[in-house]
Amino acid sequence: MPKRKTKVPPAPVCRATEPTRILFWSQCVGAPTTHRGKKLSELTGLPVLRPSIRSSAIGLASECYRKYLYRYRLGLESKYYDSALTIGKVYHSIRALLRKGKSESDALHIAAHLLGEWQQRTLDATDKFGMTSWGQDSSQVIEKGNKDWQIARAMALWAHHRNPIREDEYEILGIEKLIEIYYQTIRTPIRIRVDLLLRNRETGELWIYDEKTCSDPPMQIMAGLKFALQPKLYRLAVEAWLQNDPSAPEGKLTGVCHDLIQKLTIRQKQKESLEEYIDRVSQEYDSNLAACTAPGGNLKELKYVRSTIRYNAALVDEEMLLQLRQADRMAYTTPSLSQYPRAVNPLITCVQHKKLCPYMALCESNPARWKEEIIPLYYKVRSRDIADEEDQNEWDRSIPA
Ligand code: SF4
Repeated sequence: MPKRKTKVPPAPVCRATEPTRILFWSQCVGAPTTHRGKKLSELTGLPVLRPSIRSSAIGLASECYRKYLYRYRLGLESKYYDSALTIGKVYHSIRALLRKGKSESDALHIAAHLLGEWQQRTLDATDKFGMTSWGQDSSQVIEKGNKDWQIARAMALWAHHRNPIREDEYEILGIEKLIEIYYQTIRTPIRIRVDLLLRNRETGELWIYDEKTCSDPPMQIMAGLKFALQPKLYRLAVEAWLQNDPSAPEGKLTGVCHDLIQKLTIRQKQKESLEEYIDRVSQEYDSNLAACTAPGGNLKELKYVRSTIRYNAALVDEEMLLQLRQADRMAYTTPSLSQYPRAVNPLITCVQHKKLCPYMALCESNPARWKEEIIPLYYKVRSRDIADEEDQNEWDRSIPA
């Protein structure tokens, strides 16, 4: 006889887990494109810019649209001292000078001169209590700037000597090459600056060479660079240049070589001479390289990496096209606060690497105070495409060609 099935009673419903459903229909509060009826240009007193497409701008927009609006459409740059930015600029400037054939002492002399100019500007903005007009202790800022300059200088000299471009193998075709192109129906120009363009003397392959300073281990950065937009933009712009400019060099663009160096945190000691300090920094990089590349060493902890990415996918894929179209729209949209919303997750985006976003003063204040009070106090205003400023940063603007 088949066994009779016992009827299982239904599980009790736990009312506490059921969502409360409410249909709520409300009008949007406030005018969508203005603040109390005012346009953004009236609130800031600034012209609205149309920035070119570049990976740094798209990267910023992906973090927070409002940040992109402030920096690229309104051309605002914080007056607060930024250590990472300074180290990156000085490092690039010294390496560029050395590549342009300047002697080491000339390169350092020019960098020192630029440092002096920056210090003077900081002092000019200092009141009788020793505070800058934007509220930083002037002597502390200058001391920090000096230390950052020392470390950037030591890093640049070490990288220049440790891993020079082998000119018997590679011909240098361009240094700091600026290229601007228009792609199909995208209205906004794409702009890149290539640190170096190299040609392999034997194979004729062309390589883009890109130098970066970073706070995180270079291997981590490399992992992300494989599918980042920047190498793709480089490729698109350089290909366009090679195919359309009769004066462009011949050869097949093969890939990009990244030269990444992690910033050290060791500082110059009080009684240490500059030469001793540079030696100590060099030793730190050398011993890291030796330890990480020895059998059993951890490559993830390398502080300096030179690595290549070969271009083998489509020149422009659908993902990239979408990114270009988005960037084009961001550059053309009539700017308003609602079109460029603030970060979705302020807890993560507004405080990155334990640093407060430089645009916090704008975000947390009433826009009615921007024009007269907040902007003059905390921001430098760039009146032209900020990409131009980035391409010609204040450290290398006065570098002789
Ligand atoms: S403070 Fe936050 S919301 Fe405002 S611009 Fe910066 S990241 Fe965006």
